[in-house]
Amino acid sequence: MIIIRNLDKRYNNLFHAVKNIDLKIEKGDIFGIIGLSGAGKSSLIKMINKLESPTSGEIIINGEDILKINNKKLLEKRKKIGMIFQHFNLLSSRTVKGNIAFALEICGWGKKEIEERVNELLKLVELEDKKENYPSQLSGGQKQRVAIARALANNPDILLSDEATSALDPKTTKSILNLIRDIQKKLGLTVVLITHQMEVIRDICNRVAVMSNGEIIESGLVHEIFLQPKNQITRELISYLPMEEEKEIEFQKIKGRKIIKLSFIGDVANKPIISDVIKKYDIDINIISGSIDALTTMRIGHLVVELNGDEKLQKRAINAFEEVRIKVEVIYNG
Ligand code: ADP
Repeated sequence: MIIIRNLDKRYNNLFHAVKNIDLKIEKGDIFGIIGLSGAGKSSLIKMINKLESPTSGEIIINGEDILKINNKKLLEKRKKIGMIFQHFNLLSSRTVKGNIAFALEICGWGKKEIEERVNELLKLVELEDKKENYPSQLSGGQKQRVAIARALANNPDILLSDEATSALDPKTTKSILNLIRDIQKKLGLTVVLITHQMEVIRDICNRVAVMSNGEIIESGLVHEIFLQPKNQITRELISYLPMEEEKEIEFQKIKGRKIIKLSFIGDVANKPIISDVIKKYDIDINIISGSIDALTTMRIGHLVVELNGDEKLQKRAINAFEEVRIKVEVIYNG
């Protein structure tokens, strides 16, 4: 578990990049930190392994404040925290095997053990056939796979990812995100990733914190934030996603029509709530459009429907939806 308390970072005693942040990241989380460029994400993630020193605050990893331990202990802790970067940071003069071995050489592993471990890691990232290649002979996705293997060499508990898919095309991004998710499951890792892309959060994170101007402005479970974003910046970041619900919904604007949008998370979607409400309140519901956003933890469904019938009963139907945590937005009330 990672506990961050009152974390503050000023550059040159002047620029306030991270402002008094509190965060709790549970073991096994894939925790995403999202925000626009300059929000302070990179400063924050680099403080977790002390690549960057905080101005004040606490970072407690598995019960120990890494800002209070001596250098020897810090090096030991760092072995248990792997990190990957946007531009891979591979050594161009070393082969794939040599890049991964490097992380083990500096920790004093023997030649035979290194060979065995490198082979194991290459299998894990599905790059066994590229062992003797140099980074310049690899695609972006393959380079990131090498970087992931290197980051995992010392069996870390934590993987930090600094915009790891930002330099990749959408298809390669998906394959790297799938790899991170598989590895997280297989090894029980805690993953902390920063990104400016909401699709990364949607595709692999279970929790998210939204950062703006050095502060966490909103955080929680991914499906809850997607369903009910409280902050305007979060809404904007979600709106950049090419989701079905963003399409213009066409209907005739006739006086007396009432059109509402219902949004619900997976477990609600499995129950026949809509038909129950129709029966109970004796109103007519016509479905105009529907879509589903698949998040990593669950699905969010959206239905745009027209309500017909007695106004009072319509209100009671809306209350009935809200009681079972279906979000209701009136999008036309003619
Ligand atoms: P993000 O990762 O969200 O883009 P950063 O953490 O990189 O944000 O940067 C946050 C702010 O801190 C930016 O305004 C940036 O210019 C500033 N900053 C980052 N690193 C340094 C540095 N080494 N010296 C001075 N200012 C910095």
